[in-house]
Amino acid sequence: MKSGKVVRVCKNVGDEIHSGEPLVAVEENKKTIDIYSNAEGIIKEINVKEGDKVKLGQLLVLIEGEIVEQKEVKKESKGSFNYFEGIMSPIEEEIETKVTIIGSGPGGYVAAIKLAQMGADVVIVEKDSIGGTCLNRGCIPTKALVRSAEIYKNIQDANKYGCFSKEHGVNMDEVISRKDNIVAQLTGGIEHLLGSNNVKIITGVGEIVDENTVFVKSKRKETTIKTEDIIIATGSTVSRLPIPGIELDNVLKSDEALELRKLPEEIVIIGGGVIGMEFAFIYNSLGSKVTIVEFMPNILPSLDEDVQDTIREIAEDRGIKIYTDSKVDRILDDENHKCVVEFTNGEKKFISTEKVLVSVGRQPYIEGLNLEKVKVELNENKKGVKVDHKMRTNIPNIYAIGDATGQVQLAHVASAQGIVAAKNIMGKESVIDYSNIPSAIFTDPEIATIGIDEKTAAKENIDVEIGKFPFMSNGKALTYGSTEGFVKIIVEKDSKKVIGAAIIGPNATDLINEVSIAISNELTIDYIIDTIHPHPTTSESIFEAALAAEGMCIHN
Ligand code: FAD
Repeated sequence: MKSGKVVRVCKNVGDEIHSGEPLVAVEENKKTIDIYSNAEGIIKEINVKEGDKVKLGQLLVLIEGEIVEQKEVKKESKGSFNYFEGIMSPIEEEIETKVTIIGSGPGGYVAAIKLAQMGADVVIVEKDSIGGTCLNRGCIPTKALVRSAEIYKNIQDANKYGCFSKEHGVNMDEVISRKDNIVAQLTGGIEHLLGSNNVKIITGVGEIVDENTVFVKSKRKETTIKTEDIIIATGSTVSRLPIPGIELDNVLKSDEALELRKLPEEIVIIGGGVIGMEFAFIYNSLGSKVTIVEFMPNILPSLDEDVQDTIREIAEDRGIKIYTDSKVDRILDDENHKCVVEFTNGEKKFISTEKVLVSVGRQPYIEGLNLEKVKVELNENKKGVKVDHKMRTNIPNIYAIGDATGQVQLAHVASAQGIVAAKNIMGKESVIDYSNIPSAIFTDPEIATIGIDEKTAAKENIDVEIGKFPFMSNGKALTYGSTEGFVKIIVEKDSKKVIGAAIIGPNATDLINEVSIAISNELTIDYIIDTIHPHPTTSESIFEAALAAEGMCIHN
């Protein structure tokens, strides 16, 4: 909660106060939090009254006295938690609801709103900030940095456009603050949406006690929720490789990279997957010397090979050094507080660097949910909750969605799964279809793919026509000064149905949607060809690639 309305003032000036006693209660979007004293003494000033609007950081109450360490009180808790930090007994509450969702990322909050729209009583449990990884530490903050990097690169390239700028530079403090403001605006917006849909938010760590009970523990409150259905939407956490030295101060996870307020002179990124490559282009554009060390034979290993080669060439042209087929052996601290990354690439190699970013993937986060006791089955690799296509676990009224299921780790997939779970809970049969999921990568230029790629079509003996069109021949791309890349459309030869696409170039992540609609609706390539595309736009490249699949390209 970053701001709210004071709904209760619990003390008066001159009162004695003890550590752990409530001072004021503040409400926002139907969520009330009590603010407790961490000091013992006499209340000297109360600067607010009921109904006042307050914000984070504002001085509410002045106490003359001293800060008091809180003593531990042993208290039997109903769940398996065995800690309680306050000196006060926790406030206990028991509520009833139709659906309880644990986790408020793009899976959980979308499911909550959908359920509320369908008439269900919904409680969402969140131990951290509303919006999950996506809004707080993932999709949105990275894209805010991508935009700052893009602006800085454009300023440096300004003379190519007949413009000039006498001074330019990067203020990382402001880059990070801008990112924080965007995150705050979005998370506040989601909290508001949940409130206006009458979804009750409970802050704390959720645990499933049995198939109809969720227990939520926060520092001051224990809530027992009696519920008809449960959705597990607890997301994922970074995977850490057992590399010696990985715990050093200068070795970062993506969460920490998003808070760097000083631009590193050099950064080594371990892992050339989606997150690693996005950070590589961000730091490269902002001016850091970037090296990628990737274990696999190529960066972005799951992509179309043409796209892989193109993005690698572009990255190397910009000065990003890439080592593939390379295994990091250890990371060492040197006497100048820098790191040395030791890796094997045919032979031993060493790179001295200010920072290291480890970006080797994420794994489902299901810790502390008590799944074993409740007998919720996990996937065969023991990572992630096992679900069917209705997002249902082996326990009929417990569902799981998003990264926690260990399926496709994308925000829009989590949301789609959330909607499927919500519909099934409300008695409207729905299944998830993984065959048509677009993926968007915010490198520079952007990449987007959907459906089948060329290699898979060959492996599965699908007879295809490939239509390819370079952005170099697109007028809008020329005016942008962004002509690297192409659109590739894959069409099933006999049926003429569109079955896949790979785009690398300007606006790729927006352009892919036209192909998504074609694939979802099993449209033939003629539907794209017969659609008039506006001029001059990068969408004409989709039209031209569709024509190319028929051997009829006009502008190439
Ligand atoms: P999450 O968003 O992880 O949310 C889970 C929530 O559950 C968290 O808030 C957590 O605090 C809470 N929680 C966990 N356990 C408990 C508990 N016991 N009690 C209460 N609360 C609990 N995806 C894209 O589609 N596009 C992108 O551009 C993109 N960029 C990314 C960039 C980065 C750096 C990262 C790390 C990820 C990115 N992703 C992107 C992936 C995307 O963020 C995830 O796929 C998405 O957030 C998954 O949503 P979710 O709802 O499953 O879980």
